[in-house]
Amino acid sequence: MKNKVVLVGCGNVGMSFAYALVNQQTYVDELVLIDIDEEKIIGEAMDLNHSLPYCPSKLSVKIGKYEDCADARIVVIAAGSNQAPGETRMDLIHKNSRIFKSIIDPIMASNFNGIFIVATNPLDVMTYLTLKYSKLPVSRVIGSGTTLDTARLRYMISDKIKIASDNIEAYVIGEHGDSEFVPWSNASIGLTSIDNFLTKEDMESIEKDVRESAYEIIKRKGATYYGIGAALAKITKAILEDKNEILSVSSYDTNNDVCISTPAIVGASGVKRKIHIPLNQEETQKLTYSINVIKDAIKSIE
Ligand code: NAD
Repeated sequence: MKNKVVLVGCGNVGMSFAYALVNQQTYVDELVLIDIDEEKIIGEAMDLNHSLPYCPSKLSVKIGKYEDCADARIVVIAAGSNQAPGETRMDLIHKNSRIFKSIIDPIMASNFNGIFIVATNPLDVMTYLTLKYSKLPVSRVIGSGTTLDTARLRYMISDKIKIASDNIEAYVIGEHGDSEFVPWSNASIGLTSIDNFLTKEDMESIEKDVRESAYEIIKRKGATYYGIGAALAKITKAILEDKNEILSVSSYDTNNDVCISTPAIVGASGVKRKIHIPLNQEETQKLTYSINVIKDAIKSIE
């Protein structure tokens, strides 16, 4: 069976994901582009195909329709509105939830039986809606969650202490939004506590910068997309290569009936298991707050 990936929503985020894929060696054989702007995707497919002779990927790029999801391993959704300067991710909820119904229904009507990866904001709500609309098993509906925020965190720590980001075991968890936070009590570098490298003030400042990154980027260039493009490619590879990689994706939390990010093992069947992380009292309160923010947002559209 071919490793087919369908991308729904070929704007800044979608095409950054596509470009990240063609610039890496992956198991993807075919990338299918779907968007309501049919002219745009013809141009995008042409442009992307013209990069292939100079790229490591051997995938083919096509434009398609929802019927193409029938034999797809993964459908990535990056369709919908993005934040205007000053707008929060939650402000997009009504516009994007309507769009999602019109996307998930025809995908499921195609008999799609693979894994969804959701990138559209407000991320945790859109992931939850994808789960409810598709009725797929919870392991097969994944939101990019705080994978991007975790990349931002590791980049900033690495830049501060001059140690490679691969050696930094720290995550952003919770809502992909304003209530996200870093459980510093679990963060480590080279098997030692992060307290040996960062002061409390450093941690607070880095955490604030991570949380405000999207606003700062949007204020300057109108949208953020390279980081999320790379994060989506990372999740796609973890699935297709059955990597069992620990990623802070958003997935269903049975106890609280929300989708939210905590580190989880991602492989061929999707989210194989969420990892239990021991949180201190303050971190537990932050996670509870984040859960409630997402719950209230879901209630507002139900
Ligand atoms: P964009 O406006 O550049 O692209 C959106 C695309 O969706 C457009 O090409 C549009 O034609 C398409 N679209 C709209 N309605 C559609 C429909 N019904 N069916 C198919 N396609 C449709 O926006 P963007 O900058 O690419 O952002 C996309 C989403 O990703 C936004 O919600 C944004 O907030 C989110 N985002 C998420 C993260 C993350 O970490 N998860 C990071 C950045 C942006």
